[in-house]
Amino acid sequence: MGRNYKIGVIKGDGIGPEIVDEAIKVLDALSANMGFNLEYTEMLMGGAAIDETGVPLPQETIQGVKSCDAVLFGAIGGPKWDNLERHLRPESGLLSLRKEMGTFANLRPAIVYDELVNASTLKPDVVRGVDIMVVRELTGGIYFGQPRELLEDRAYNTMVYTREEVVRIAKVAFEIAMKRDKRICSVDKANVLEVSQFWRETVIEVSKDYPKVELTHMYVDNAAMQLIRNPKQFDVILTGNIFGDILSDAASMLSGSIGLLPSASTGAGVGLYEPIHGSAPDIAGQGIANPLATISSASMMLRYALGEDAAADKIDKAIKKSLAKGYRTGDLGAYDAREICSCSEIGDIIANYVSK
Ligand code: NAD
Repeated sequence: MGRNYKIGVIKGDGIGPEIVDEAIKVLDALSANMGFNLEYTEMLMGGAAIDETGVPLPQETIQGVKSCDAVLFGAIGGPKWDNLERHLRPESGLLSLRKEMGTFANLRPAIVYDELVNASTLKPDVVRGVDIMVVRELTGGIYFGQPRELLEDRAYNTMVYTREEVVRIAKVAFEIAMKRDKRICSVDKANVLEVSQFWRETVIEVSKDYPKVELTHMYVDNAAMQLIRNPKQFDVILTGNIFGDILSDAASMLSGSIGLLPSASTGAGVGLYEPIHGSAPDIAGQGIANPLATISSASMMLRYALGEDAAADKIDKAIKKSLAKGYRTGDLGAYDAREICSCSEIGDIIANYVSK
């Protein structure tokens, strides 16, 4: 009997259901001949959960994810729920879910596929060969810090990091760097913020356990500039929640489309695997969304959560092959496309490649 894994599936809102369906199509085509079986349980979160239960993160979902081996997630949010109070909006469901799951490490690869060097807004010479892993702290920092308040004539948030939070995310980055080019650039704002000075000192402490990894430091404003000036200088970027949020979106554009890039949110327990983009309400329901970021996220899930590296390699190769053959969704359409495909046609092509 083959290996059996329980996968939680949160399709979400907007293009979420369309792109997750394609990832499942690919996983099913693959698992059949790779000797494992995936058992899916659908769960609600975000706008879909608000419509059905009145809250963005139902208790059932919080309990449900804990009994899974991994969770595959699409995206949440949309104008329909934008006017709700902050704690009732779809986005607060996602922030709470990450906190509940203890997924403190967000891994966001930014890879430029050779076939798409022309899709980037930067010159091909600048982006060819870019392969960066952004390791972003996900459950601390200013998005969660207390106190926070919105008052009549002022508002404030608090950026706070504890030693434990910095140590555990730094260790994740160093372990990843050991499997890559052994270079980490830790990004902070230590010239202005005490919390960043603490971050830097703590990362230096952790680095003593990893003498083979070269550690450098960069201020976040410079890092934003360097990502655009010379992105190939980076191997692993280690940073906090808000800086990582911004830098990983900037890094994503090196690859040409936000529709290409996956992410993994991992921690002590079950991990959440999701594309870096949002629910794209502007194109939802039209069948034109790019499913590759979600299919890539499924590949990360196989690799990091289930240890099915050979299956993950198959997906990664199939994505490259589809791009090399010129199959593109509309967001990449202008770049060396042989054929503009729908979301489900791309899913069919990748599923076909991985099933062989
Ligand atoms: P977005 O990422 O949804 O869209 C930005 C732009 O990129 C849009 O033009 C969209 O059409 C395009 N795009 C995104 N994904 C694409 C794909 N797979 N294929 C082709 N084009 C794609 O960001 P936004 O417009 O700022 O946010 C829309 C909603 O998503 C908001 O409600 C926001 O809060 C939410 N959001 C959710 C997540 C998440 O679920 N993790 C992340 C970011 C934003």
